[in-house]
Amino acid sequence: MPELPEVETIVRELRTRLTRRRVESATVERADVVHGDPRPLDALIAGRLVKTVDRRAKRIIIELTRNLRLVFHLGMSGRLTIDDHDNPIAKHTHVRIGFGREIGELRFRDPRRFGGVWVLTDAGEYVGKRLGRLGPEPLELAAKGFRRILASRRQIKALLLDQSKIAGLGNIYTDEALYAAGVHPMTPADALVEPIAGQLLRAIKQTLRRAIRARGSTLMDYRTVDGQTGSFQRQHRVYGRTGQPCRKCGAPIERIIVAGRSTCFCPRCQPL
Ligand SMILES: [Zn+2]
Repeated sequence: MPELPEVETIVRELRTRLTRRRVESATVERADVVHGDPRPLDALIAGRLVKTVDRRAKRIIIELTRNLRLVFHLGMSGRLTIDDHDNPIAKHTHVRIGFGREIGELRFRDPRRFGGVWVLTDAGEYVGKRLGRLGPEPLELAAKGFRRILASRRQIKALLLDQSKIAGLGNIYTDEALYAAGVHPMTPADALVEPIAGQLLRAIKQTLRRAIRARGSTLMDYRTVDGQTGSFQRQHRVYGRTGQPCRKCGAPIERIIVAGRSTCFCPRCQPL
């Protein structure tokens, strides 16, 4: 599942390629992935310019002129790519937004359909799935705000995965950040006092920044806008390394289930 670094990579590329470009057409192949304003997408957005492309948590927000936002969520298997108009259309491509010949076509493809696009206008009636509430951005979070989030008996991994508490982290970066801070994933959050809480916040930010520099981690579905893979998976310390030696202490990396999710950690570097 794409997490914050993968989505940030996509956003930066879309911003470079699409800002100030004019939408020429929109084609919806599957109406059930489109939520928000129910009016036909083509009539709504053709002719508008892209003002900005931004990210909020794992959401990609394309703001068009005259107060319309397209919010993409990639879910488990979603991809957002820019293809030449003539490229064959891959299976499970649900929405296509055409720009000029020299730009190409923005294509949203999502085989498992946990993602979608939200068309947000002031005038339109809202239909379909609602967008959930989001906690603060981890890269903008200060120590005080983080301590407030930690005031909970929940296991730290479960808390970090909860998008309404802190938004953008998923399974990969939670495991990597907990390892970097030496924190066991099942530790009750409110047991993390200073200096450990501060270490964990720094580890989260550093892990995310490094992953953004590597253009994210490609395990299965994630691709950049150009269809390239990310490379941060080569720097993973625990995620996907069950049974392999810890790079710090040599102990085999273990896999347990926390918060219903597969969780990798080093039993020696991350004692409970
Ligand atoms: Zn270790």
